[in-house]
Amino acid sequence: MSVSISPELRRPLVDRFGRVHTDLRISLTDKCSLRCTYCMPAEGVPWLHRDSILTTDELVRVAEVAAALGIATVRLTGGEPLLRRDVVDVVARMSRIEGPGGPLELSMTTNGILLPELADDLAAAGLERANISLDTLRADRFRELTRRDKFAEVLAGVEAAQASGMSPIKINVVAMRDVNDDEIVDLARFAVERGLELRFIEQMPLDAGHIWSRVKMVTGEEILDRLATEFTLTPLPGRASAPAERFLLDDGPTSVGVIRSVTKPFCGTCDRVRITADGQLRNCLFSREESDLLTPLRDGGTDDDLARVLHRCITGKLPGHGINDPGFLQPDRPMSAIGG
Ligand code: SAM
Ligand code: SF4
Repeated sequence: MSVSISPELRRPLVDRFGRVHTDLRISLTDKCSLRCTYCMPAEGVPWLHRDSILTTDELVRVAEVAAALGIATVRLTGGEPLLRRDVVDVVARMSRIEGPGGPLELSMTTNGILLPELADDLAAAGLERANISLDTLRADRFRELTRRDKFAEVLAGVEAAQASGMSPIKINVVAMRDVNDDEIVDLARFAVERGLELRFIEQMPLDAGHIWSRVKMVTGEEILDRLATEFTLTPLPGRASAPAERFLLDDGPTSVGVIRSVTKPFCGTCDRVRITADGQLRNCLFSREESDLLTPLRDGGTDDDLARVLHRCITGKLPGHGINDPGFLQPDRPMSAIGG
């Protein structure tokens, strides 16, 4: 496939505040093999209708149009992206798409459970890096937190990803009070021992149960304070639009990142746009509005029509997520259905 976009639409995705959008997060499915408490309910998940899930051809077409508008990096996510049966094919086809400066840079955020089976094929298909979510090093805690007994599989997934040659492998940790905040230092040691990069994420109000509480949230500052009791932290420069503030642990080479979405929002440099598994564009994790790409994709829309939806979506982007505003309303979709 190759796209045909008019010259007047073939321009970067720039919003009203001058932010240029170069990063696309694509949710491959809303299904998941875990039920993390901060993301999904234990039961009764309102799944997306099967027929509305974008096909691989549709995903590739969207990515091609986006690449023509300046998207350079694509992160595949979900739900659990590896549950999509044709995930290796999706990666292979996406990795052949030409972005503004060469082929799209591809990464994935995954719970890691299926990596022992898939890591080598994914790497061969063009997946360059992976973020694996792991909030605890204790099997019993993992079971409580994810409501599934899959700790050993995730650890094996981390090893498989490292053995496949993907690099860097990052570990995403959502820090939670009285749940895993006593493991902050242990997780950092785990990362140092294995040459993994660690990302601590402040918990955001995106849980299906709407029970997020600012008071309970472990702040980035607290995380850094805990780390500083055991390690010398040296700030690393060159953050640009990356959500994580990075610090070298002792003399390196391992670094740790802290993503302070709530207490130190980085909306001013945001370059990200998302598409849900059912073809809805979101200009922010916290948007309360979506732009429909599914209909033009299925009703014979041209590439120009798709490009117009992308431009309109970015034009409507607000300056910030507003979590700290008194009138903040959590989005209707949980994180698993948005695509983290
Ligand atoms: N299933 C994959 C995984 O867990 O890595 C990909 C999707 S998941 C929604 C993407 C990331 O969002 C994970 O690292 C997860 O920890 C994070 N996440 C989910 N809910 C969150 C919340 N309420 N606050 C902060 N991060 C969250
Ligand atoms: Fe699934 Fe990822 Fe959400 Fe956990 S965070 S329930 S692994 S989508």
